[in-house]
Amino acid sequence: MADCETRVIIGAGHAGGRAAEAMRQAGFAGEIVVIGEEPHVPYERPPLSKELLTGDEGPDKTFLNPPEFYADNAIDLRLNARAVRIDRAGHRVLVAGGDAVDYGKLLIATGGRVRHLACKGADLAGIHTIRTIDDSLSLRPRLTEGARVVVIGGGFIGLEVAASARTRGAHVTVVELADQVLARVADPAVGDLVADLHRSRGVHVMTGATVERLDGNGRVAEVICTDGETVAADVVVVGIGILPNQEIAADAGLEVANGIVADAFGQTSDPDIFAAGDVAFHYNPILGRHLRLESWENAQLGAIAVARNMVSDPQPYAAVPWFWSDQFDLNLQVVGAPETWDRLVTRGDPETGRSVIFYMDGAHVCGATAFNQGREARPLRRMVESSAAFTDAELADESLRLRDLAARGD
Ligand SMILES: Cc1cc2nc3c(=O)[nH]c(=O)nc-3n(C[C@H](O)[C@H](O)[C@H](O)COP(=O)(O)OP(=O)(O)OC[C@H]3O[C@@H](n4cnc5c(N)ncnc54)[C@H](O)[C@@H]3O)c2cc1C
Repeated sequence: MADCETRVIIGAGHAGGRAAEAMRQAGFAGEIVVIGEEPHVPYERPPLSKELLTGDEGPDKTFLNPPEFYADNAIDLRLNARAVRIDRAGHRVLVAGGDAVDYGKLLIATGGRVRHLACKGADLAGIHTIRTIDDSLSLRPRLTEGARVVVIGGGFIGLEVAASARTRGAHVTVVELADQVLARVADPAVGDLVADLHRSRGVHVMTGATVERLDGNGRVAEVICTDGETVAADVVVVGIGILPNQEIAADAGLEVANGIVADAFGQTSDPDIFAAGDVAFHYNPILGRHLRLESWENAQLGAIAVARNMVSDPQPYAAVPWFWSDQFDLNLQVVGAPETWDRLVTRGDPETGRSVIFYMDGAHVCGATAFNQGREARPLRRMVESSAAFTDAELADESLRLRDLAARGD
């Protein structure tokens, strides 16, 4: 068994990279090994569907740190290396090719992998997904002026790709199964506002549309829906969500549900193994439940908190979930993760492009979406976190500043 000073991280993505850095910043002097299957140093994914697609720069700006950072900080970063098994009794991670790495404490930060379409034609050439730098760079040259791009899935990533493709001059159709876009995360009213923005920019948004098959002679040429509607396609981008990479944990006998079950400290059912980022089904003390988040902030601050817990005095990680999205010139700030709400309250006129929609549970704000009001994310989070009561009238009253209203919860 390793000396207990060794910290091993599986996954050299956003959470894994930040966790290694945070361990060093917390003063941890022992060995840190990061095992990552991708060829790149740890990087942030939000630009992959935005700036990396619309611009023509290389991927360096997405890197969390320059490549030399890892050697400079005595972090043993092993790229192109896939962890295949965790031997809990031996405190050891087995890597494809035969290597084994001993650990004292282990962090699993394996993120997620894209879901693929299961229909006929799903393996034709010209069908893309977006999760990695390489995915984004292989799609980018296909998003040309006049290209017919069909995006399957009207979630955040699908819509961001649609906006980027349209910005590059492509003809874009979004095909969404549900009756609204952003169905998994937003009220229909919010989804409709976002769909309207896309339509106003020339994107053809189809909702309630089920893809039956993809057709083409070796290369995709058409998307055919069950109602018979056919959309011509030079390129198809599938954005229908991810599956958490939790198998390595399940195979090791760790508790898994929708992700690897972890407490508020990031600790799994094995006290020497932790989980962070998209793969963690972690306990959120503010919401009082477990949830799995797919967000930059959770991969950043959540992973930093868990990393510190692995090297120093444990502190629970408690934050109101927060996510942003950029589509055309719309910046969306999504606060909270409400499962139910009894009504919405709108502040500001959505027609102007600047508004906030509150999700209400009685007098409590349980979530909010801000349109082009980036600076309001902080007070909105305070409102969701607090148990303060608000009336619909005061929330809608733009003469009252949100930060003053939010201070009521202090
Ligand atoms: C295109 C795109 C746009 C996004 N935009 C936004 C946004 O605007 N706002 C926002 O808040 N969030 C956004 N996100 C979400 C955010 O980027 C993710 O939540 C975050 O990247 C999760 O980090 P992670 O480290 O948990 O997982 P990942 O970044 O996926 O990293 C996991 C890493 O582990 C590796 N791995 C998996 N299994 C193994 C194994 N067995 N051995 C070795 N390595 C392994 C994977 O290859 C991967 O490199 C976006 C995500 C994507 C894909």
